Amino acid sequence: MNKKNKSSEEIRDWRDMSFDVLMRIFMALNLVDFAAVSMVCSSWRDVCRDPSFWIANTLDLSKWKHPPTPTLSSKIVSLLSSLLNLSNGQAHCLIFQFQIYIDNRDFFKIAQRSPNLKRLVLPGWFPDFTKKGIDLALEQWKGLESLTITNTYIATLFLEAIGKYCPNFSELKLTCHLTLNIATTLAKHVPKLKVLSVQSVRVNKNALVHVVKKLKQLEILNVTHSFIVTGNRPDNTEIYPQHSIPTLLKNMPRQPTTLMYCNGFCDRCQDVFIGNMMHKWRDPKEQIWCEDEIPSLQI
Ligand SMILES: [Zn+2]
Repeated sequence: MNKKNKSSEEIRDWRDMSFDVLMRIFMALNLVDFAAVSMVCSSWRDVCRDPSFWIANTLDLSKWKHPPTPTLSSKIVSLLSSLLNLSNGQAHCLIFQFQIYIDNRDFFKIAQRSPNLKRLVLPGWFPDFTKKGIDLALEQWKGLESLTITNTYIATLFLEAIGKYCPNFSELKLTCHLTLNIATTLAKHVPKLKVLSVQSVRVNKNALVHVVKKLKQLEILNVTHSFIVTGNRPDNTEIYPQHSIPTLLKNMPRQPTTLMYCNGFCDRCQDVFIGNMMHKWRDPKEQIWCEDEIPSLQI
């Protein structure tokens, strides 16, 4: 054997790496690098397209380092579309970046490319969403089970569409305020809801009573750090402290199996209280969006 042949035997070609090793490496990559390695060669692309990868992993855009401008948002949406094409419709969990700009058209395209989605975390705001746009997207997501919504106006539109298209839906996190309108829409269109989190937001007292009364399959209700009120402005409202929540619900014919609340004296409660009294009732914070006492709703 000559020297050249011996050398070529000792050096293994990177294309010979096993499927399992490549899968482990690719799972550790960020989304940009993952999209890049999928274009290296056909064998790496096959690994990136494997259904087991997409079932095990979350398409998580929340770790994006910079607040996106409209231009950057369109690049992120473009990257997301490429990744969803790679997934071949197998993506199960999609978390948007909190401040991303997205319109009806892009939202529908994303829904078309992810028909097996089970969990969706929506961005912090939706300047261009319409009832028709939400309906078209939800029609694609018939297997959706879990959703985080951040906007009071679109919350009712989403709940109506979920009632129409998503029979297995069971878990909801609202980082907007729980109004009586949302509560009645929820009870009417998603009566089989099992898990509801309205932590660290303003919760209308009658809305809280309504969901506990009407959602007969509700197992977990998280109202930790929330601001329980009777009115719609700081100057016309009665405020109920966290520790009074069990008393508010004690005469209900049925209670959720798990009711989450705090003692009302934590730092988060102080932040929520001050924010509400300063009329900052409209902007869900990214921190509230990410955190939850219910593990399956955390980011
Ligand atoms: Zn608290």
